[in-house]
Amino acid sequence: MGKKNVLSVKNLNKIYSKNKSQPINALNNLNLEVKEGEIFGLLGPNGAGKSTFINILAGTAVKTSGEVNVWGFDLDKNPRQVRASIGIVPQEVNLDPFFNPRKLLELHAGMYGVKKKDRITDSILELVSLEKNADSYARSLSGGMKRRLLIAKALVHQPPILILDEPTAGVDIELRQNLWENVKLLNKQGVTIILTTHYLIEAEEMCHRIGIISKGNLIALDSTKNLIDKVQTKKVTFLTDKEINVEKISMPSLKIISNVNRKLTISYEKSKLKIDEIISCLSKQGTKILDISTDDADIEDVYIELIKN
Ligand code: ADP
Ligand code: MG
Repeated sequence: MGKKNVLSVKNLNKIYSKNKSQPINALNNLNLEVKEGEIFGLLGPNGAGKSTFINILAGTAVKTSGEVNVWGFDLDKNPRQVRASIGIVPQEVNLDPFFNPRKLLELHAGMYGVKKKDRITDSILELVSLEKNADSYARSLSGGMKRRLLIAKALVHQPPILILDEPTAGVDIELRQNLWENVKLLNKQGVTIILTTHYLIEAEEMCHRIGIISKGNLIALDSTKNLIDKVQTKKVTFLTDKEINVEKISMPSLKIISNVNRKLTISYEKSKLKIDEIISCLSKQGTKILDISTDDADIEDVYIELIKN
């Protein structure tokens, strides 16, 4: 590796106290580093502090204490340079419905002080596959197109770091795939990506490293592969000749994940249970097993495991 850090956060705290009897400690001594060229995933349950972190970088929330350094610039000393180094795709879609994509990008570039001759509006539109919709009203765009337009908007000043806050929430699967292809392409072109997502499987597919945040604090940080290797949970799906009565199955660490259409999916801890014990338990019910498929733990298992402790 040996890649340099493009973002580093030290002892970052954020306390919301306005108009509240009880102050909220949204970020609690957060420490984090993101390396140049990686896709970094920030995961965590609702209210963990993900958006607060991103809003501090975006300048729409003010930190209570701690140090933030982006692309070599200190947030306290050089807030404008920090802003120039990042493009932010916010959680909420917020577009003026009466502008078309081209106009919107031009206006936004103007806001960032990008000179006319330095604008790359057409190539950005192409990058997010919106060149054919460049002149349609924003309100006529589909949900997925609007998301892509938000990404385009974050790119007008050609920032080396792109930050996406739950960019695929509420976007259907097909468009989601398309959106991620665009993000991967940007990463190939050298843009460092930081994203938050609720779709944990997606984080597993997309990210080189994953940080898990809970109650404003990092509780895990590793390569995606190492995080998954850490948990010893195994997932198995049985296809059987008849429906299984799951109430009769009770074994150490075994959890029923789903049981529909003669397909039973369970999880268990490898240290506490062996696959042949499960098979013989099913056989005792007079069930014939027609097929077995196993899965290593996905990030969701890691996540649940970590939150529990
Ligand atoms: P996440 O994005 O991980 O869901 P948030 O950063 O949105 O989490 O929220 C973290 C905590 O801070 C939550 O308890 C939330 O209610 C609180 N919070 C977020 N924004 C504000 C705000 N503007 N004022 C007061 N509390 C807030
Ligand atoms: Mg959020």
